[in-house]
Amino acid sequence: MQQLCPHATEVVRRLQEEGYEAYIVGGSVRDLLLGKVPKDYDVATDAIPEEVKTVFPRARLIGRRFRLAHVRMGGTLIEVATFRGPQVNEDDDHMHQNGRILRDNVWGSLEEDAIRRDFTINALFLDPISGDIQDFVGGYRDLSERKLRLIGDAPTRYREDPVRLLRAARFVAKLGVELGEETAKPVNEMASLLKDIPPARLFEEVCKLFMTGHAARTLEALQRFQLTRALFPVLKAKGSSGKAQTGPLMDTAMKNTDERIAVQKPVTPAFLLAALLWQPVRERASTLEAGGMQEYLALSQAADEVIAKQVQRTAIPRRFSVITRQIWTMQPRFNHTRGRRAKALLGERRFRAAYDFLLLRAEEDASLKDLCDHWTEAQKGVVLNTGQGDRYKNDSRPPPRRRNRRRSTPAAKS
Ligand code: ATP
Ligand code: MG
Repeated sequence: MQQLCPHATEVVRRLQEEGYEAYIVGGSVRDLLLGKVPKDYDVATDAIPEEVKTVFPRARLIGRRFRLAHVRMGGTLIEVATFRGPQVNEDDDHMHQNGRILRDNVWGSLEEDAIRRDFTINALFLDPISGDIQDFVGGYRDLSERKLRLIGDAPTRYREDPVRLLRAARFVAKLGVELGEETAKPVNEMASLLKDIPPARLFEEVCKLFMTGHAARTLEALQRFQLTRALFPVLKAKGSSGKAQTGPLMDTAMKNTDERIAVQKPVTPAFLLAALLWQPVRERASTLEAGGMQEYLALSQAADEVIAKQVQRTAIPRRFSVITRQIWTMQPRFNHTRGRRAKALLGERRFRAAYDFLLLRAEEDASLKDLCDHWTEAQKGVVLNTGQGDRYKNDSRPPPRRRNRRRSTPAAKS
């Protein structure tokens, strides 16, 4: 087992000293037992949030749907949650008509807290002082068999919270576990329930799916479980299934993202979304161009339409969608390899992201290889304008002066 986090242990110790029950729980215990370093630590306790605040006066109480205490210990943030009880009855107004839970802030016992969790391997409670593990659901055995099983009746648990479908795909990708039979069976037919989840929550989930170092395997899992189009309905179906048509561009984007994360380089959802949604943008733009629209305008309009459709399913905060759109609409500008236009393009703040995207496009279109080589050469000796807060910020020198930004966009030229 990995070394325990001394700060999480300290939080547990202090709660226990005050007479409360407290454990390290959830993903952190699972990851420790798998020999992985947990990305964060959760503590579960029978102390209610106000009591946690008495033990840790500087704790912050947060959350509306689930109230929690955030305790900072030695620079580490530990989430301390009170044991939660059984879900309320079907006829209670806490329950959405199709079985989805809207609010559940009902405190409960340790065992009740275990069974309301999603998967058995996420419901292990570790007492870091004694080293004991409390397991009410067979999570330890499932972990050693590398099985991902929902606790309780699978269809009911997916209906309560359809995001568990995506969590299943994520854990398969991240942990290399396989779905148990009962857990796997309802997945396809439940996929449509994801459309009732608030888009903001799905965006958060998309970030967890693709930006935690396992994007390539996650896409594979989403495809296998036919969940891809439930997240990205703008993508074309592969056959009559929930699978989407993917290709080398998307696959390489996922692989590159994973590689960047592995060496602690920053990644942005803007670039990932550019890759994921490019196919419908390109197709829509072709249709518009075939109808006589100028290339840049067609691309621009296609980008707006695709983003507008996608945000109905997963929100895309504007700070990202603006960049995604720029990455797309800069693509035709790479065709001008000489003169003022070429120079202006090199001076653009998003040049590097757009160039990386051009390289991705060459994965599917070999005729772009020469163009890629040209722009690879063209950058040599040029100080790229990386802008403030850009992910390609790796040069501390000031960006080159631009005389007139507008002049450099093709739309303004034609
Ligand atoms: P990760 O490695 O991604 O953090 P995790 O299992 O810790 O994985 P979190 O989203 O941090 O995932 O949730 C912490 C714990 O809360 C889970 O391990 C699980 O026990 C419980 N949990 C989270 N989401 C749900 C859900 N939708 N339904 C039931 N229980 C959940
Ligand atoms: Mg976690």
